[in-house]
Amino acid sequence: MSQSDNPAAASPAASPADRAALLESLRWQKFPVLDDGFVALVDCMGDDAAVVQAARVSYGEGTRKVSDDRQLIRYLMRHAHTTPFEMAEIKFVIRVPMDCWRQWIRHRTASVNEYSTRYSLAIDSMQTTPGNEWRTQATNNRQGSAGLVAEDQGTRLTQAESDLQNNARRVYEERLSAGIAREQARKDLPLSTYTEAYWKIDLHNLFHFLALRMDAHAQLEIRRYAETIGHEIVSKLFPLCWEAFLDYRVEAMRLTRLDQGVIRRLAERGSPPPASHEDFLTAQDPSWVGLERSRERDECLAKLSVLGLVRS
Ligand SMILES: Cc1cc2nc3c(=O)[nH]c(=O)nc-3n(C[C@H](O)[C@H](O)[C@H](O)COP(=O)(O)OP(=O)(O)OC[C@H]3O[C@@H](n4cnc5c(N)ncnc54)[C@H](O)[C@@H]3O)c2cc1C
Repeated sequence: MSQSDNPAAASPAASPADRAALLESLRWQKFPVLDDGFVALVDCMGDDAAVVQAARVSYGEGTRKVSDDRQLIRYLMRHAHTTPFEMAEIKFVIRVPMDCWRQWIRHRTASVNEYSTRYSLAIDSMQTTPGNEWRTQATNNRQGSAGLVAEDQGTRLTQAESDLQNNARRVYEERLSAGIAREQARKDLPLSTYTEAYWKIDLHNLFHFLALRMDAHAQLEIRRYAETIGHEIVSKLFPLCWEAFLDYRVEAMRLTRLDQGVIRRLAERGSPPPASHEDFLTAQDPSWVGLERSRERDECLAKLSVLGLVRS
């Protein structure tokens, strides 16, 4: 294929030399996460231009007249035309506590190879929590946390954590010294124990992972990993795709039919927004009326607040 036949040649992407230099600067660089975890790029196939190149196969040459690469990528992201994003793949090596890994591994669309604690000694590192980072249980979300405990209580919790982790490690090592198989000796190690894995995923499925795990509803610990992958690595390797991902996934807002009804009723009232909280309550969808608690109503109110349509 000649240079002029290659749709990707129209891309404003970095030169091959710049791209190679960028990759070399990122590969194996350990971006720290939590107290002893990290994320590092091992390899990357493709770039923004690879996504564009694949898309132009389906849209043909005509596309070039109406849109540049950035516009095409943004169109693909907006309209969930996802397969071009599968043309790029990224391989990471990660070090992550087991409890976080348990959430991570639920994402089935990646290829994984994990450190074996049947074959090797369990990594001698457990995630620890500083006294000022113990979070209290959220009352409005059973899966979430809200606020922090007082620091003196946190200090006691951290001391207890340290005792428990040291004891668990001591028992593990005693079992090994007694000749117990590694596969059985490990069974009482805490979920805070770090593991390591190679994790390879295409860009489409990585964005799905990042959208779920960078979200405020995700647990803080895995959120830290997702944010590091996104901001430190993906944003540099795929600047145009990343920008579109932020605009149309991360920062986008879905308005349901019910949300739209509430907005319409607020607008019909004639009072220019922002309306008051009372206005919102009377404009609420009929299916929420009379309910003492409605998560959907709370979510709608949160969206309207972000949009500046409701004063609290
Ligand atoms: C905030 C939060 C809370 C959660 N809470 C819980 C919980 O309480 N309990 C719990 O068990 N899990 C929980 N999860 C995990 C969640 O249910 C998903 O398993 C996880 O997020 C992986 O999502 P996924 O299946 O979309 O991703 P992937 O496995 O990466 O799959 C990506 C997409 O591929 C498709 N796909 C993959 N495999 C299949 C398949 N076999 N059949 C059909 N389609 C497939 C689907 O479209 C899927 O969305 C939670 C996740 C989040 C983000």
